[in-house]
Amino acid sequence: MENNKKLEEYRRRYRAEFIGAGYNGWLHLAFTVSASVAVITYSLFLLKDPTWYQWLTVPLAFIYTNLMEYWGHRGPMHHRRRLLGGVYQRHTLRHHRFFRQDAMAYGGSRDFHAVLFPPVLVVFFLLVTVVPSALLVHWLLGANVAWLYVATVFGYFLNYELLHFSYHMRAESWIGRLPGMAALRRLHTQHHDPRLMQHYNFNITYPIGDWLFGTLYWPEAVEDRAPSAASN
Ligand SMILES: [Zn+2]
Ligand SMILES: [Zn+2]
Repeated sequence: MENNKKLEEYRRRYRAEFIGAGYNGWLHLAFTVSASVAVITYSLFLLKDPTWYQWLTVPLAFIYTNLMEYWGHRGPMHHRRRLLGGVYQRHTLRHHRFFRQDAMAYGGSRDFHAVLFPPVLVVFFLLVTVVPSALLVHWLLGANVAWLYVATVFGYFLNYELLHFSYHMRAESWIGRLPGMAALRRLHTQHHDPRLMQHYNFNITYPIGDWLFGTLYWPEAVEDRAPSAASN
């Protein structure tokens, strides 16, 4: 009860302090989708007769991005780092205080602000991480592989944003009832338990990194591990 009051109070404070009067959650979502689709379409448009082995870029870039998601979340999003302090603040100090395992759903569309990456961060992410790595891939393996890499990274990013967006919808909504959604949502819901968030379920999308590095929390399988995480 006391906890619920604290969460509601934090939500009120967040809405007053960080969400501007002109903010529109649906427009924010539309920006995320259209910017990603534009980059993916543009990249695919520039392909010139890719060979079958060049298409292997797609699964390889998918795995690479899954591991980046894992380490980005397990690292700077949950541990304060000098250069990436803003990332820690946005995620651990704000997102995790706004949503808890027993209060995962938005109060309204303005709350999308506490989930989706701000547009300025999307542009930053494009310029600082995707452009240099794509240039390196281009230099090493040619234009087709570079454009397939960019398309896959942005496809992955869009998938990440839409899945995370969906986990914070009401479980009984039509999105919450899509096939597979309940299982993925459950993993992320457990990650929102303050006793588990520093230890388990760092993949927001598919738990490949968690599975590889032993941080997958699947209650039936690791029931006995939860209390020790809780006491840390
Ligand atoms: Zn979340
Ligand atoms: Zn987290």
